[in-house]
Amino acid sequence: MHRTRYNALRLTLAISPRGPLLVKAGGISANPSLPDMQFVRTYRADVGETVYIPGSSLKGVVRGFVEKALRTLDDQNTWRWACPTFPDEQQSCAKRLEKEENSATVYRRSCGACRIFGHTRLRGRAAFTDLFPIGDVTTEIRYGVAISRLTHAVAHGPFEMEVAVAGIFEGHLVLENYEIWQLGLLASALEAMNQGLVKVGFGKNRGFGEVEVTVKKARVDEVSGDYAPTTLRGLSAFAHKDQEAYGLFPPDDLRDLPEPTDEVNLGIYTRRIYDSEGWQAIAQKAIAILSAQ
Ligand SMILES: [Zn+2]
Repeated sequence: MHRTRYNALRLTLAISPRGPLLVKAGGISANPSLPDMQFVRTYRADVGETVYIPGSSLKGVVRGFVEKALRTLDDQNTWRWACPTFPDEQQSCAKRLEKEENSATVYRRSCGACRIFGHTRLRGRAAFTDLFPIGDVTTEIRYGVAISRLTHAVAHGPFEMEVAVAGIFEGHLVLENYEIWQLGLLASALEAMNQGLVKVGFGKNRGFGEVEVTVKKARVDEVSGDYAPTTLRGLSAFAHKDQEAYGLFPPDDLRDLPEPTDEVNLGIYTRRIYDSEGWQAIAQKAIAILSAQ
């Protein structure tokens, strides 16, 4: 079933620091004129060297939020909704399903978090692209020390931290063959991030990492069919007969959504575009179904 792409969502995300933001570069620079903790950079043909937010670091914090939210549903010692993340852990989905061949069974028996983000035997449904600056990003140097927990003395430092304090990073969250509840969880993760409950990058206990998250645009592709443009369909709406084998959850769709700002017929797919406001309406409905389950 999942060889076909039934539905796909692409959100255009704009992320701005609300205070110091430091997504650290790995390793230590050989250049002594650079700060000790540098914001991660990459090279782009059009602009040269630039700071950016790797998609993997965003995915990490979003997965962390989703796991925490799902664990509240787990009874003691059942890992149905969010398995333990350590890869060697016997109860992790990757370990439990190591020898399972049937892809429907792998999906059905995977925990909620792994159904979204994947494990070694299951491809994740959600992906983040890298986020690049739109215009200028302002960075500053902050100084920090590390305090030894044993002696309460300065263990090392002061060291320099390069933080972004203003500017916009833009990139995409892509979700394919998603169930409606997965959409709801991701939407609430983005909202939690925007409210400062989910922080990004280094120094969370220093107050770093609060960001403003704006969904500038949402693009929804669905296999074309006879349905209202105000309905958004989850995987189970396309795969009714596989519902049990894959263990898909209700609801099949979200209804009574605002009209898209644009609708394009791509043949097999119908593409709908929503602006920020349209996405907000979708997000609110998707989040509401989580508490209705
Ligand atoms: Zn899992």
